[in-house]
Amino acid sequence: MAFELQKLSYAYDALEPYIDAQTMEIHHDKHHAAYTSNLNAALVGSALEGKTLEEIFANISAQPVAVRNNGGGFYNHNLYWEVMAPGGAKQPEGDLLKVVNASFGSYQNFKEAFTKAALTRFGSGWAWLVKQGDHLVISSTPNQDNPLMDLAEVKGKPVLGVDVWEHAYYLKYQNKRPDYVEAFFNVVNWDEVARRFKG
Ligand code: MN
Repeated sequence: MAFELQKLSYAYDALEPYIDAQTMEIHHDKHHAAYTSNLNAALVGSALEGKTLEEIFANISAQPVAVRNNGGGFYNHNLYWEVMAPGGAKQPEGDLLKVVNASFGSYQNFKEAFTKAALTRFGSGWAWLVKQGDHLVISSTPNQDNPLMDLAEVKGKPVLGVDVWEHAYYLKYQNKRPDYVEAFFNVVNWDEVARRFKG
């Protein structure tokens, strides 16, 4: 069973003005589509066919780099689309807010640490909010790596991720990654983050 590119659950322009429609369309229809087809090409006929991505990531250091890059690209973008939603800036609530406060002291502290991780990741990669047991930590990874991979510096279950590859922001923000990351907080789908934390 090949992996399939999911449709976005909202329109390309739904995250305007924070993330522009053209970026969303190219990012999903070209970049994510390429990771998807390249992942399927890398898996076909291999011993990994039929395994879940979580199973593959748990032993990714032993796999071909094409599986690492495209498997990560496929998984990470699925997460990215789902942890964003239109509707304006929100903050975690309820049980998730308690975990954020217990892990970082406050939402503001979380936001500063997550932003720092996103801005200090050199080159292409991701910043993550990661579930470790009953608390949360922040990390970043290069390229399309993620915290589910056995070779990740910080391992755990990703519940929020921001793509800091230039393709995620260059059309609207050019070199200004800080402006993109600040804008990202206006489109975080905290209900989905909470669902991933519980699940
Ligand atoms: Mn991307």
